[in-house]
Amino acid sequence: MQLTDTHTHLFASEFDADRVEMMHRAIEKGVTRFFLPNIDADSIQPMLALCDAFHDKCFPMMGLHPCSVTADYEAQLAVIKEWLSNDKFYAVGEIGIDLYHDTTYAEQQKLAFRKQIEWAKEAELPIVIHTRNSFNEVMEIVTDMKDERLKGIFHCFSGTIEDAKRTWCRLSSLLQPVLHRSKCKLPDRINR
Ligand SMILES: [Zn+2]
Repeated sequence: MQLTDTHTHLFASEFDADRVEMMHRAIEKGVTRFFLPNIDADSIQPMLALCDAFHDKCFPMMGLHPCSVTADYEAQLAVIKEWLSNDKFYAVGEIGIDLYHDTTYAEQQKLAFRKQIEWAKEAELPIVIHTRNSFNEVMEIVTDMKDERLKGIFHCFSGTIEDAKRTWCRLSSLLQPVLHRSKCKLPDRINR
């Protein structure tokens, strides 16, 4: 069996001590592809280093994580944009809104989310969305910006089953990579 890890931050410093061993253990268990979502400007080099070390297995994404949107977010976004314009990435991520830990920069998070969705559409890349205590805010922006170029997955989803149904009905094309459309009806396993 071939497994794909769609979202791993194994390049983070918390894994410095045993990163390579963890990678080898996962590969031994059948994981053949690892998709790496960027966090901020500082995580880019470690992420790309892991991709260099496991170049046929690791696939980098580029984006500014909502928890990293602070006072300097415009400078951080400029770095992200530079990389996106010049190198190959497999998605724009992870991006979104997180109002669980801190709401100080809620407005800046929304601006950064919109800007990065726009870049994804221009580059025709999927987006990987992080939404925590922010379902309505994320839905408002994604619905507003949705067009035929926008696709991707919800990674961190803290909404209710009703929220999932609303997402499915309104944005099924956005969710297509992980679920299959069936006339606005959720598959049984998530309908429960
Ligand atoms: Zn993540």
